[in-house]
Amino acid sequence: MEKTLEQPSNTGNMTDNLFTRFSAPPLHRNKIFLAPPGRETVTFAQAFDQAGRYAHVLTAQGAKKGDRVAVQVEKSAENIFLYLACLRAGLVYLPLNTGYTASELRYFIGNAEPSIFVCAPRDAQMLTGIFSQGAVLTLGDDGKSGSLLEQAASQSPDFPDAVLGKDDLASILYTSGTTGVSKGAMLTHGNLWSNAEVLRQLWHFSHDDVLLHALPIFHIHGLFVAINICLAARASIILLPRFDIEEIFRSLPSATVMMGVPTFYVRLLQDSRLGRETAGHMRLFVSGSAPLLAETHREWSAKTGQAILERYGMTETNMNTSNPYAGVRKPGSVGFPLPGTDLRIADGDGKPLPQGEIGMIEVRGPNVFAGYWRMPEKTAAEFRADGFFITGDLGMIDGDGYVHIVGRAKDLIISGGFNVYPKEIESLIDELPGVTESAVIGLPHKDFGEGVTAVVVLNKGATLTQDQVLSAIKDRLAKFKQPKAVLFTDAFPRNALGKVQKNLLRDQYKDLYA
Ligand code: AMP
Repeated sequence: MEKTLEQPSNTGNMTDNLFTRFSAPPLHRNKIFLAPPGRETVTFAQAFDQAGRYAHVLTAQGAKKGDRVAVQVEKSAENIFLYLACLRAGLVYLPLNTGYTASELRYFIGNAEPSIFVCAPRDAQMLTGIFSQGAVLTLGDDGKSGSLLEQAASQSPDFPDAVLGKDDLASILYTSGTTGVSKGAMLTHGNLWSNAEVLRQLWHFSHDDVLLHALPIFHIHGLFVAINICLAARASIILLPRFDIEEIFRSLPSATVMMGVPTFYVRLLQDSRLGRETAGHMRLFVSGSAPLLAETHREWSAKTGQAILERYGMTETNMNTSNPYAGVRKPGSVGFPLPGTDLRIADGDGKPLPQGEIGMIEVRGPNVFAGYWRMPEKTAAEFRADGFFITGDLGMIDGDGYVHIVGRAKDLIISGGFNVYPKEIESLIDELPGVTESAVIGLPHKDFGEGVTAVVVLNKGATLTQDQVLSAIKDRLAKFKQPKAVLFTDAFPRNALGKVQKNLLRDQYKDLYA
């Protein structure tokens, strides 16, 4: 891949349109942007020109600045061109998990009121049944078919980018909605640019980088962290449709960076091919979106010689913290607040707590979203008067300034009036020989309010009983934290990003102490 690019300059733009910034000179138009295995590579020029054609198609359908473009199609280069087309035209890109069914789509359509819906050709008929207020366009899974492409073929690649301010919306991402209704997080051009720039610099991204991309692109991690940093750095992307271990090993030799969720790392560790020969050349491995076990971090270092860099973020805030690029990447920690982002650990009223105490993580900065789409009360309820966003994550800051996440506030267990933080117990159980992983949850209990309960997945062939688990951790935990029951299961329910869905576990076992 060509190596003659200079770094983009960050100043002097007349507009805050993210696309205009990404395509600002100096740009080597013939450099490879996307390399999807088994398909032709795409240069920056080709991607930007195709985005121009798509932008013409979208605006010809009547879409105007600020209109939502809902997109439920598979990951492909063309889906990324569509994202860029929305940026160019000042439209709001609204990606939807490809797993959503018609009844779920009805909610998103009703809430977001898009003016265009882009779906797979096989879903067009169903969509026209539930979406009458705008145009339906199609894009095939292979990115090679569909009405979007047909209409784009006759369009000009030149498109006048919308002149935008930093507060104009670039995207709405719906939260996964595991508790209550799914909310549309409004992300602005300013939010996305600031986060991409900070991370590009912090993680030393350059045009020499080649990112191995196996994450979904309907989520903040695969879409904005991964793609926007590469656009800002003019780095190349090996675009895999999904996480496929064979493809990962085939692609690793040409990559310099991989971004993944913890399950990627756990699965790669189980493969005997992983070692210094296959992964030692990489510049950086990044993990986020769910907790990376300290043990996984250590095992990875021992096998590959590479310390995974763990960072912490969420749909509403983009990235908030990162372990250092140069310096100690502490296993079990998510590192320091990003430059420009204020982070505090607060009590229930938003009052900062002394260092070392556990409390609510609150953040403020240019990365934090503009609120929930058409939900002013929900937005108001999650911001403090001084502008801090209440993340819903519990954490603490250690003596070296590193942030540690202890769990979601809604997962906090209150047993007999005492606060019990699941992660403390999970870490002890995870250390036991034979344990793959554990999830500690609170279940309704008539004496204690909630009964601390451990659900455990064992390694293949391992045998461990409730009594063995309990006696192994008994001396290391106060009585009120000790699980009242230990249950065993084959696997945890997880969402698309690999997060354990504790709400489903709580549902499954809700009558245990009844
Ligand atoms: P999402 O909005 O789907 O990206 O989910 C955001 C949530 O994922 C955060 O509020 C955290 O609870 C969790 N999360 C993200 N990164 C990490 C991490 N490195 N360690 C632990 N939890 C994380």
